[in-house]
Amino acid sequence: MTTQLLERPATVTVPDTEAGRLIVPATEGSTTVPTYRVGAPDIQCRYPVIVGEDQVIGRAYRWHRDWFVLTTAGEHNLRRPPKGTPGTDMAAAHLAQQYAAGRIGAVPLDQVLAEAPTPLCGPVPLLHPRMPVNDRNIEGAQIAFAGLRAHHWRAVLTGFPGSDNHWFLSCELCPWEGPKFWSHLRGRNGEPPSARRHKGGCIGEDKVRRLITAYH
Ligand SMILES: [Zn+2]
Repeated sequence: MTTQLLERPATVTVPDTEAGRLIVPATEGSTTVPTYRVGAPDIQCRYPVIVGEDQVIGRAYRWHRDWFVLTTAGEHNLRRPPKGTPGTDMAAAHLAQQYAAGRIGAVPLDQVLAEAPTPLCGPVPLLHPRMPVNDRNIEGAQIAFAGLRAHHWRAVLTGFPGSDNHWFLSCELCPWEGPKFWSHLRGRNGEPPSARRHKGGCIGEDKVRRLITAYH
């Protein structure tokens, strides 16, 4: 803990169960990089990178193998993180350096949250807007949506983004929602997926197994 952290207790209003680790300030060359943390992902699977109490210096998101950052200077592709480094960490460190160097600005978190899209009430489109419409993707999406139904998941904003990509889903067995990978939800080698479902373990593995026929 540094003095700076003690002076700035985290009083951020974002529900933050999975991210939000504080990263201690580091010195990169002659520039002191501010303390920053990664907030909870929004409905578009974008992770806000926050300095101070509530100043968002950019949002990081993954599109297949690459990680992108969205800042006051526009969108930038950081490509793939080094092996073993989470993409959010790579993106957050990049944003903190850019911010320290004065190349990007900050936006209050409230404003960022107010501009986020709201969940759809009805069905979402079949494909994510970035997914090319072709037979292979349509077929993959139909399989994925059938799997979501069978496993009590609901897509709340976008269609199928591909198997190895963040997809913001709502658990229909409990109030949990967040980004998931279809490749983790479909099971492997004829085996059903983990009955833990998501962080927190959902309603308990026994109940999950009872409710979903794939486990019978
Ligand atoms: Zn659940």
